[in-house]
Amino acid sequence: MNIPVDYDQDDWGALVPMDDGTYGTMVPDKVVIHWGGGTKVEEASVAWEMDRLQRWDRYHTNGRGWDGGLAYNYGVGNSGTKYRARGWNESGAQSGDEDGDDIRENQEGLAIVWIGGSASVPTNVAFEAMTEFIRDIMAADSNITRVIGHREIKSSTACPGDVWMQFIEEERWKEMIARDDKADDGLPVHDSNFQEAVDAGVMSGFTQPGGVAFNDEIATFLARAGVYNIAKLEARIVALEAGGGGLQDGDNVTLNKSG
Ligand SMILES: [Zn+2]
Repeated sequence: MNIPVDYDQDDWGALVPMDDGTYGTMVPDKVVIHWGGGTKVEEASVAWEMDRLQRWDRYHTNGRGWDGGLAYNYGVGNSGTKYRARGWNESGAQSGDEDGDDIRENQEGLAIVWIGGSASVPTNVAFEAMTEFIRDIMAADSNITRVIGHREIKSSTACPGDVWMQFIEEERWKEMIARDDKADDGLPVHDSNFQEAVDAGVMSGFTQPGGVAFNDEIATFLARAGVYNIAKLEARIVALEAGGGGLQDGDNVTLNKSG
């Protein structure tokens, strides 16, 4: 299987570049999300992400002696860039048997690493890139129906972190794929507006486009956007009730006081 990426192994400088699908035998039925770990704040740049991939590749190849090199199938960075590692091959990134079917997760789980760690949070475009991988992988092989986090196989690891676990447990990838399908039908989707709102701190980085907004979140958003001003409104009500207030020029609210 050959699914779209932005950069192949040769492009980012893998020590052991392999053709797609030649390293081991995969019978995949799930995607397993990882983080690379580390405590540095990630830069959302291709140069930074390639450097991290090269470091991890050398560690897995020389430090651990794994002959397949970097032990993930694919990678995504906070720049929204998609990388091929081993491709559609035996990954070696997760031992154990999560679903108890006597087939090791190394052979059943396609491992996608987010190039980040505990000091960072995934960006909106990283969620988008991960979702594209999931969508393309599931489209390429209908046996692949689930997405899990590494910690669901190995309880002693925090990988892939709480934010990705929320993405997995709430099945945000399903919402995002459904939204993209709608966008293909011509309905407007404003990812750039969403990212601007996150960057400006108006919306939480833990929310994702296509997700559900609760009423208190909407109210907070409206207040921050200046659509209404509670303090000004309350002051005007107090003034009216005291009899000395009244509406002033420029007020565009109408308050009727009976009696
Ligand atoms: Zn992991």
